[in-house]
Amino acid sequence: MMEKLLQVDNLKIEFKTENGVVSPVDNVSLGLHRGEKLAIVGESGCGKSVTSLAIMGLLGKTATVANGRMLFEGRELPKGGSREWEDIRGRDIAMIFQEPLTSLNPVFTVGEQISEPIRTHQRVGRAEARKRSIDLLKRVGINRAERVYDEYPHALSGGMRQRVMIAIALSCNPKLLIADEPTTALDVSIQAQILELMRGISSDYDTAIIIITHDLGVVAEMADRVVVMYAGQVVEVGDVFAIFENPRHPYTRGLLNCTPRIHELRDELEVIEGSVPSPLKMPKGCRFHPRCAFADERCISQQPELIEHAGQHAVRCWLFDEHGKESQ
Ligand code: SF4
Repeated sequence: MMEKLLQVDNLKIEFKTENGVVSPVDNVSLGLHRGEKLAIVGESGCGKSVTSLAIMGLLGKTATVANGRMLFEGRELPKGGSREWEDIRGRDIAMIFQEPLTSLNPVFTVGEQISEPIRTHQRVGRAEARKRSIDLLKRVGINRAERVYDEYPHALSGGMRQRVMIAIALSCNPKLLIADEPTTALDVSIQAQILELMRGISSDYDTAIIIITHDLGVVAEMADRVVVMYAGQVVEVGDVFAIFENPRHPYTRGLLNCTPRIHELRDELEVIEGSVPSPLKMPKGCRFHPRCAFADERCISQQPELIEHAGQHAVRCWLFDEHGKESQ
C-alpha cells in the first residue's frame, strides 16, 4: 500500500491551566496521501486548530504531546519545537492562517518576507531570491508583482495579503500546506478566488492540503476527505461524498442540518443546541451525549470507539454496528 505523506496516530495533547491539566486533543488519528485535500471540520473548541498546530510544531510552551506520534514520509516528527522543526517547517510543511495581517510582519516589505525563507532554505543569493519571489507572487495571481514586492503588508487588501501568505508558504515547495480558516476573513468573491488558487496549487504541484474550517461551503469546494471533530476527538471520517450524502454521526448530521445535499449547503454550520463541553469538564461516555437526541443509558456511561465501516467511512457512535448499519 502507498505510504502516507502524513500519519497521525493516537495524538493526545495536554495543556497546563490554572485549573489543572486539560486535553483539547485526545487520541486523534488521521492520515493523508500526497496531493490529497483533507478538511478538518467542527465548531470552535473541537480541537481542530490545536491538532494542526501540533503537526506544525507550533504548540506553545504550556502544551505537550502527551501521547501518540506523527509520521511525515514515514519519519517521526519531533514532538516539540526544536531546530529540527525549523528545517521541516517551511521546507516540507507550511501553514497559512486566517488573518494574514497578524501573521505578516508589518515592518518588513512583502519581498523581504518572501525572499528570506527562500534564501535560508534554498541557499541562493539576494538577486536570485528576488527573482524567485516575484515569480511566486505572479504564481499566486498578483498583478504588478514587482511593485507589490516592495510594498508593506498594510498597503495591501485582505485578499492580496492572503495571496502573499500563500506565496510565502509556497516559497519552499512544501509537500503539505496546512490552512487554518484561510478564507474566513475575506469576502465571498475573494474567498472563491483563494480556494481556486489553493486547488490549482494542489493539482499542479501535488501538494497535500489540510484545511481547517467551520464552513461547509469550503469543505464541499476543497476536500477529498473530511474528518469531523467534536470535543477533542474524531467522531466521523469519510470521503466528501459519504459525509455529505450519508452522514452517520448525529453531530455530523447536526452540522449538515439533517439534509445533506451539496447543492443545498448553507454558508455556515447550523447551530446545534447546547455547546462544546469545556476540556475541564468532559462528559463521561459519549462526549456528544448532552446534545444528542438519540442518547441512551449506554451513551451516558460508555464511550464509543471510532469504528471503520466498509469503504473507509468511520464513525464513533453506538447507533452503528461494525458494518455501519444503524442499530434498531
Ligand atoms: Fe448520540 Fe449515543 Fe451516538 Fe453519542 S453514541 S452520538 S450520544 S447516539
